[in-house]
Amino acid sequence: MAAISLRGISKAFGTQTPVLRNVDLEIGADEFCVFLGPSGCGKSTLLRIIAGLEDPSAGDIVIGGQRVNEVPPAERGIAMVFQSYALFPHMSVAENMGFGLKLARVSKAEIERRVLDAARVLQLEALLDRKPKALSGGQRQRVAIGRAIVREPGVFLFDEPLSNLDATLRGQTRVEIARVHRRFAGSSAVYVTHDQIEAMTLADKIVLLRSSRDGADLDSIAQVGAPLELYHSPANLFVAGFIGAPR
Ligand code: ADP
Ligand code: MG
Repeated sequence: MAAISLRGISKAFGTQTPVLRNVDLEIGADEFCVFLGPSGCGKSTLLRIIAGLEDPSAGDIVIGGQRVNEVPPAERGIAMVFQSYALFPHMSVAENMGFGLKLARVSKAEIERRVLDAARVLQLEALLDRKPKALSGGQRQRVAIGRAIVREPGVFLFDEPLSNLDATLRGQTRVEIARVHRRFAGSSAVYVTHDQIEAMTLADKIVLLRSSRDGADLDSIAQVGAPLELYHSPANLFVAGFIGAPR
């Protein structure tokens, strides 16, 4: 089953102060884990390390029981959704969603089945023949999520996927993402955000990160726990301030 272990992960870029320090973390299969923290604290870097887009300076990444430090991104069983959704403008919604599978030589019938299935989950069935320019921002982001779903990954990674949307669409798309995760029982999700509300509503488990630059030897993780645990029993002033802060 897809479960992720991060063991002693640290990361420094060049000779700068490390961006991440001593990250030890277990993410269960089926779990929706949110990396929450202020801008610049290293959330995206940690996600990119899991995805294999960035190498850690120290530590091990274990996915499904296998150490994957040397495994290339495409072979880690991961699908990633970014903040900006680069869709192919000349392809329809269905073609955009199926393109990665086509490259992977999945059969036409199987691609069709998976695209329809994803479209149903994301309520995109009526839009499958449209081109991206005929979609709203929220619909485009759903297509980007659909592109991840059709690969049926063991691990979903989301990097602030809603931050380009307005408040209403953010709320709606948040619901879609929760539904997507429930639909794929057995898959882990890691979701990066700086938004406390998003974290509180989506997470089974919140990992609250703080900038390791705030103190000479602070570890990156300020607290790990269920949303209400962090809310009611903050481990320190940083957690209390960040979780309790009005937006
Ligand atoms: P977050 O996603 O929490 O906003 P990031 O992980 O993007 O934070 O960045 C954390 C810190 O690492 C920032 O100070 C950023 O400037 C720095 N950083 C990220 N990527 C690089 C890179 N490729 N080279 C140098 N510094 C980087
Ligand atoms: Mg980021």
